Amino acid sequence: MAAKLWFFYGAMGSSKTADALMKRYNYHERGMKAALLKPKLENRDGEKIIRSRIGLEGECEYVEDFLESVKENGKPNYDAIIVDEAQFLSREQIDALSNIVDDYDIPVLCYGLRTDFQGNAFEGSARLLELADELIETSTVCWCGRKARFNARVCNGHIMRDGAQVQMGGNESYVALCRRHFKQGKLQSD
Ligand SMILES: [Zn+2]
Repeated sequence: MAAKLWFFYGAMGSSKTADALMKRYNYHERGMKAALLKPKLENRDGEKIIRSRIGLEGECEYVEDFLESVKENGKPNYDAIIVDEAQFLSREQIDALSNIVDDYDIPVLCYGLRTDFQGNAFEGSARLLELADELIETSTVCWCGRKARFNARVCNGHIMRDGAQVQMGGNESYVALCRRHFKQGKLQSD
């Protein structure tokens, strides 16, 4: 069976990272090697660990370093490539990951958010929606019970509509909402 490019996408809190870690564990259980990758973002302390909200964690490599090594050395010595936070990747990096699937027949599983706090697609996610063989939605629910597909940025109890797409180290948090309540900026029931 030919390897595929997968995109598991969803809002915040839809257990993407925990699922990525479980997938790697499944590969290891079967005696196979899966690389665990994340983007190297600015303003981070540089630790190579992926943490899920429920406490699972695992060591990882940076996508940038991994792609550089593939460029230099050719076929990576892995049975699968698992990428967390894939929304932060560039269009070119997603293209390079798709080449790994097509040139070396190695499955690449990407996990990420579909849209940012303004409801716009992230660059990496847009490219994945274009290229992926398999699109799998990981879901979570709004407070009203509908499927939550949007990520509201919240600061001091108010929804933020302006600001940088990637904001780090601030006081803001994120709340997953359905489209209706995202538009209304309604964070909870009355
Ligand atoms: Zn709702």
